[in-house]
This record gives sequence, C-alpha cells and structure tokens, in this order.
Amino acid sequence: MEKPVVDSTQTDELWTSVLSEIELQVSKPNFITWFKNSKLIENRDGVALIALPNNFAKEWVESKYHKLILGSLRSVNGSTKNIEYVVEGSLSQKVISRRRRNIVQSEPDEKQLAFQEMRVDPETNLNPKYSLDSFIVGGFNELAYTAAMAIVEDVGHKYNPLFIYGGVGLGKTHLIQGIGNEVRRLSNNEVGVKYVTSEKFTNDVIWAIRNRRVEDIKKNYRNVDVLIIDDIQFLGGKEMTQQEFFHTFNALHENNKQIIISSDRPPSSIATLEERLRSRFEGGMVADISFPEYESRLAIAKSKLQDRGIMLEDKILEIVAKKVQNNIREIEGILNKLVFHQITYKRPLDLITAEQIISEVTNKSITRATPNQIIKTVGNFFEISPNELVGRSRSKEYVKPRQIAMYLLRELLNMSYPDIASKVGKRDHTTAIYACKKVSREVSSDNDLSQKIIMIKDDVNKIG
Ligand code: ADP
Ligand code: MG
Repeated sequence: MEKPVVDSTQTDELWTSVLSEIELQVSKPNFITWFKNSKLIENRDGVALIALPNNFAKEWVESKYHKLILGSLRSVNGSTKNIEYVVEGSLSQKVISRRRRNIVQSEPDEKQLAFQEMRVDPETNLNPKYSLDSFIVGGFNELAYTAAMAIVEDVGHKYNPLFIYGGVGLGKTHLIQGIGNEVRRLSNNEVGVKYVTSEKFTNDVIWAIRNRRVEDIKKNYRNVDVLIIDDIQFLGGKEMTQQEFFHTFNALHENNKQIIISSDRPPSSIATLEERLRSRFEGGMVADISFPEYESRLAIAKSKLQDRGIMLEDKILEIVAKKVQNNIREIEGILNKLVFHQITYKRPLDLITAEQIISEVTNKSITRATPNQIIKTVGNFFEISPNELVGRSRSKEYVKPRQIAMYLLRELLNMSYPDIASKVGKRDHTTAIYACKKVSREVSSDNDLSQKIIMIKDDVNKIG
C-alpha cells in the first residue's frame, strides 16, 4: 500500500531547512547558481524527487552535490534513502516521461526541425532565443556566467563595465544577450536595454558625422540603462568611432548605467585601441570564456536536443562531444544534421550512420592550406612578413610567431620535423621538435596563447 503523499507545504518546509544546511557548505555564487531555483517536489517511500530548472543544472547538481544533498536531507528527515532528480517544466517533464517509456518519436513537429529563429526585438535589438535559462554553465564559462548573474541582480552597480572575451562560437553573444533579456524580463521591460555590434555602432557614428547629426548618437546611445556592445575588437584602429564611444561610455558610466562588452580577445590584445579606452575596459570586471571541457560539451549537446524535444542515443552525443572541441556553434551544426537525418528517415539514428555523418562534417575542417599559406597566415596575424617569420632573427617578436608556425605545420599538416625545420629556414630538426613541444605544452595552460592559435586556425580555415 502506498503511503499518503506529503502535502506541499510540508515538502516546502523540509526543503527550506535542507537548503539552509546546504547554504552553509557551498560558496554563495554556487548556492545561487545551483540551488536557488531548486524544488523538492515530493518525498515519499524514502525517495526525494528534486526538480531543477534545466537539464544542465540537473546533471551538475546530481554529479557534484548528490552526497551533500542526501546528507543534508537525512539530517533533517531520517526517512530519505535516495534522490531522483528531474527537470522542471512541461516540455522537459514530457521528455523525461518519454525517456522512461523508452519511445523514440516518429512525428516531428516544427520545433524539432529547426532551432527556432525568433524575432529580434526592434526596441532592444535582442533576440529572445538567447536566454540565460538555456545557457549551459561549466568550468569553462563559470566566471563569466557568475559575473552575468551578479549584474542581473544589481544592474549598473556591481561590475561596470563587464568585459567578456573568448574565441569564436563559445557563447559570448548568447551570454551578453541573455543578460539583456533577463534584465528586461525581471523589470517588466521597464529597464532600457540596447544591444549593438561594434560594426553597427561604427556605422551609426560614420553616418552621424557625415550627416552632421552627431547629436543622434547621444540621443540613441546615452538614453539607455544597459548598453551591450558585441565584438568590440572591431573598433581597433577606428579613431573617430573610439572617440565617440569613449564619450558614450563615460556618460553612461557616470550615471551608473550598465555597460557590457564582448570581444574575441582581452583588452590588452586589441591592437590600436586607445589607451584610455583600454584602461576603462580593464577598470571593471574582465572575464574570459575558454574552451568547454568534455562534460560541458556533452551537457550542451544534450540540452540542445532537449530544447527541441528530440532524442538521440547517448553514445552518439558522446561522439559529438568528443570530436568537436572548440566551437559550440559547430556542435549545434552537427546536431542539426543528425536530427535532420533521423526525422527524414523516421527512425532512430543508428550509431554507424551517425559516425559517418559526424566524420563527414569534422573531416571537412581538415585544412587544405599549403605550408606557405600557413606561414603567411601566422605572419599576417602577428603583423610580420613571411621573410621575417622564417628569417634568422632571434628577437622575441619573431621567435614566438616562428614557434607557433612550426606547431601549426605539425598540427594541421602533420609534417615531419625535418620538413618543418627546413620550411622555417632551420637546419636542425630538433629546433622543430622543441618548438612544437613547447607550444603544445603552453597551449594547455596559457589561455591567451590558445585563443590566438584558435584565431589563426580560423584564418587558415578560410583559405581555399
Ligand atoms: P560567440 O558570440 O562567442 O561567437 P555565440 O554566442 O554566437 O558565440 O554561440 C554560438 C552558438 O552556441 C549559439 O547558438 C549559442 O546559443 C550556443 N552556445 C554557446 N555557448 C552556449 C552555452 N554555454 N550553452 C548553450 N548554448 C551555447
Ligand atoms: Mg558573437
């Protein structure tokens, strides 16, 4: 016979006391991130059912805090033996019950066929698809996310400006637009938010100067509570625009208006950025997004599918997460292909077909560039000529790029060490071995270097 269900006020009370136990044992940001929106749904037959707001939170809490929660639950209520974790919300609940029944769907709906392209809000320029709810947090972006949450809770006062940097496709736009959307939602659209790319800002400035309407810039950009500028690195070298931005920045900052900036590199690495802007950027919070670890890549893949209410075998997702390492957009691209295949053939995708599709996509990114093109690309990146790059100078500004070039020749073309050495004008192949080992060691600990290498690889991929 089933025991009576505990009524919800009782579970709420129980959970409140469990949370206050937990709060003492984890850091404040972690508590807010992982427990604030958790709920105890029921506690019966020795099993506590805990709901988390999204799949990632569920998996994170389950893997990192299970022991702590169980211990705290038991100390408050001796009868709890085990915990089940679920995702809150109807769609997710549906996915869970589907999973329980082990049924793979055959009738696709529109949502499954494409990630919804929602309409951009004309007032704020924000795309509602970028929400903080759907933003997966892991070690690689935890700092940036925590700063984002702090801003949502205290707009304009906490970290101002917030400067977020990281490589292509790692979630900068998603996160900064997510802040904007959340601030709007919490304030019932009362707080004025404006999102622009730095290119749009530049165009507005140029237009205003040309048409003698500089006042318009003031009107449009200084009247907001939150200004979000994406990809600020493109302001490099644009003096007039930088000047205008500096004034806009100051006007907003003085009035405690929030400024949020993204860039593909830290302020110190944006060439030809005015010193006064650089020091402004560094005066707030600078947070990086690095490359997601395997677990985060897997969590992202899972959550993207869950958003669409579709299932793929876990094994398939594991392969995707293993193969695509430094670009979340690419993870989405592969998932699109896999889902499309499954929906078209109206049956669960098998492992072999999935592997074929995945390697087709990932092999495409194998470079067709020649050694000389790679050397030239590295030279361009560091603003030195190919001759200087393969020359004899031991000066620091050449040595590092030269080592990076050797590393990339090895990594992208799998060239032999003697070939690499002769390509860069060295006689001794141990120089090449040394350079490749050194760079590959540094890449794993030096975030700035690994960002640079990703950017160079991106440039190389654009060849051919
Ligand atoms: P960036 O601006 O850094 O180039 P984007 O913000 O455009 O990258 O992200 C690329 C894609 O990956 C977007 O579709 C975004 O929704 C997704 N994405 C990036 N990071 C995350 C994350 N942490 N959780 C969920 N989706 C993410
Ligand atoms: Mg972006």
